[in-house]
Amino acid sequence: MVSIGLDTQIQFLKGVGPKRAQLYQKLGIETVRQLIWHFPRAYINFGDFVEISSTELDQVCSVRGRIVSKSGEQRIRKGLSIFKVRVADDTGDMTMVFYNTKYAVDALEVYGEYCFYGRVSGNLLHREMLSPQVFTVQQAEKGGLYPVYPLTAGITSKVISANVEQAFSLLEEEALADFLPSDIRLKESLCQLEFALRQIHRPKDIRTAEMAKRRLIFDEFLMLSLALATIRDKNQTAAGYQMSMEWGNPEDFYRSLPFSPTHAQRRAVDESIRDMCRPTPMNRLIQGDVGSGKTLVAAACCYFAYRNRCQSALMAPTEILAAQHGNTLSRQLEPLGMCVKVLTASTPAAEKRKIRQALKDGEIDLLVGTHALLSDGVVFQKLGLVVTDEQHRFGVAQRVRLAQKGEHPHLLVMSATPIPRTLALMIYGDLDLSVIDELPPGRSPVLTYRVGSDKRERAYGFVRKQLDEGRQGYVVCPLIEQGEMDTGLKPATQLVQELAQGPFAGYRVGLLHGKMKQQEKDAVMRDFQSGNLQLLVSTTVVEVGVDVPNAVIMMIENAERFGLSQLHQLRGRVGRGKYQSYCILLSDAKNQESRQRLAMMCKTTNGFEIAEFDLKLRGPGDFLGYRQHGLPQLAIADLAKDVGLLQAAQQAGAELLRQDPTLSQPQHERLRAQVAAVVHNVGGQIN
Ligand code: ADP
Ligand code: MG
Repeated sequence: MVSIGLDTQIQFLKGVGPKRAQLYQKLGIETVRQLIWHFPRAYINFGDFVEISSTELDQVCSVRGRIVSKSGEQRIRKGLSIFKVRVADDTGDMTMVFYNTKYAVDALEVYGEYCFYGRVSGNLLHREMLSPQVFTVQQAEKGGLYPVYPLTAGITSKVISANVEQAFSLLEEEALADFLPSDIRLKESLCQLEFALRQIHRPKDIRTAEMAKRRLIFDEFLMLSLALATIRDKNQTAAGYQMSMEWGNPEDFYRSLPFSPTHAQRRAVDESIRDMCRPTPMNRLIQGDVGSGKTLVAAACCYFAYRNRCQSALMAPTEILAAQHGNTLSRQLEPLGMCVKVLTASTPAAEKRKIRQALKDGEIDLLVGTHALLSDGVVFQKLGLVVTDEQHRFGVAQRVRLAQKGEHPHLLVMSATPIPRTLALMIYGDLDLSVIDELPPGRSPVLTYRVGSDKRERAYGFVRKQLDEGRQGYVVCPLIEQGEMDTGLKPATQLVQELAQGPFAGYRVGLLHGKMKQQEKDAVMRDFQSGNLQLLVSTTVVEVGVDVPNAVIMMIENAERFGLSQLHQLRGRVGRGKYQSYCILLSDAKNQESRQRLAMMCKTTNGFEIAEFDLKLRGPGDFLGYRQHGLPQLAIADLAKDVGLLQAAQQAGAELLRQDPTLSQPQHERLRAQVAAVVHNVGGQIN
């Protein structure tokens, strides 16, 4: 038999033709390595049958029974036919429903005994399982745990399991030799790689599965921290534009402002400028609570770059924000001689062309925009500084891509998401940190109240009073339109009508949601910014960064539906001017945790306190929005549960890099290959 390596394409496996390979591609699987590292998300325990009469709706379980009857093929519509199979055990019966699987159903024998695994649906009088997995009794009696994989249409867990088994049997001798140095393995009491991989796919019992899992979680964290370190080091060893205080200094900029910067803002600017004066590129995260004035720090840095004859780019996550930053920054920087332009997807083509040309010619000093800045036609003459706002909306990959547009420009990342230290290391492991821990003077904290629906009318009265005094407000609700989920919540489209015709009849009420066209959104936002609209009903699209100092009301429907950090972000949309602002959390939630969370919102406006509380209550997984950071999806690790392993892996990683910074010693060859795969996933390259 021919043997194969980890990087062999999966087409070499028996039964993987071009069509199946395409399906595998949807799962991100092209090589044997990716196949073997595609782990089950659960196991079927065949020792654990449920009697049909005891199955519960929505429960995922296995049942064992005889086929009583089979329906013929029922064509629902073109391309979709269903097959129904009735199955009974001693306690009751249930219907198995299959879609488009004529061959599989034909192969089932009436009166034969089989095992079925799936989610129970239907109702208690008539139970069903949709597309269950089917096993013969012999298969089930082999015992052990049967893997259930993350799937895509057209591939079953059985197919994957068979392909994995085949891959194991064909793999060349040394392919799964352990890449983890044995001292680390022993210190952390981890099992060996090959054992872990074989057991994770076909564990002999739960305990062994857990053991395998522990090892693979450790690996995943270790690879990720090594990968991030590699990306960082690559940028840091490159020579950037070394700027100099001789050419300019932020005081000129500060003097032109209508207010003076806070100490915290000055400190963040100083730290950034110090970085930019070094020969290696800056990699700095500015973390500051909503409203702390991060934009000013960005402006000061762009000004400094300008004085050093460099161009800057500022990238925002939405067009609304890009436009807003464009306004603010032109106002602040053009009087100082800078040319500031905005480029987004909706910039008219002719204008785009002009901007690109001017950019290439070095006539534009600061370009503000969205992802459009990443497109290929955008070429800078001398890009010295890249700022990204609200980094959590940008992936690591995008950051890398933007950086590649210049000769290693300095990078400044601004984020309002406070992150606990250990996790900051994980996510921003490649960044230095400045914290803006002070709000501009004269802000009175937003007063926050939780209100039940019995007091809704009173709350509306209060809002009307504010609008009558010339202020503005937001009403935020979780949904856009009905049918997104069957939750019984009121969608934004309906709420806006009810409010405009009911309690806010005669007021100028607008609607903003994520499914609107960009131009519509911009128009609504402009109307709100100019004061034309008094009340804005919105989904969470207003969550990020929008600055309307005249808005003093943030009313949130079904507040218990939102995460704490999201509520905090939303609340940050008000209290940005000189007026007393209010946040009204509408909620009838009865459960203890929801009430605790909302009580916390009422108690403090400090984002870090809220984040820490959130972390304690819910664990880091939920809180972080890990995926939003653009890190590769974790296949097996869970940031919420595996914090201990995360720390151990980070320490091990740091220690490894101390001994062998480029992982180029021969004993680290396999480790390096494994890390390179992860680096590749986030869009980078290993040296
Ligand atoms: P964020 O950190 O949330 O991005 P912004 O940069 O949007 O905050 O600033 C919020 C508001 O505070 C803006 O209206 C801005 O003009 C104002 N601001 C920023 N710095 C100061 C300051 N030092 N003194 C007074 N107002 C400030
Ligand atoms: Mg901001």
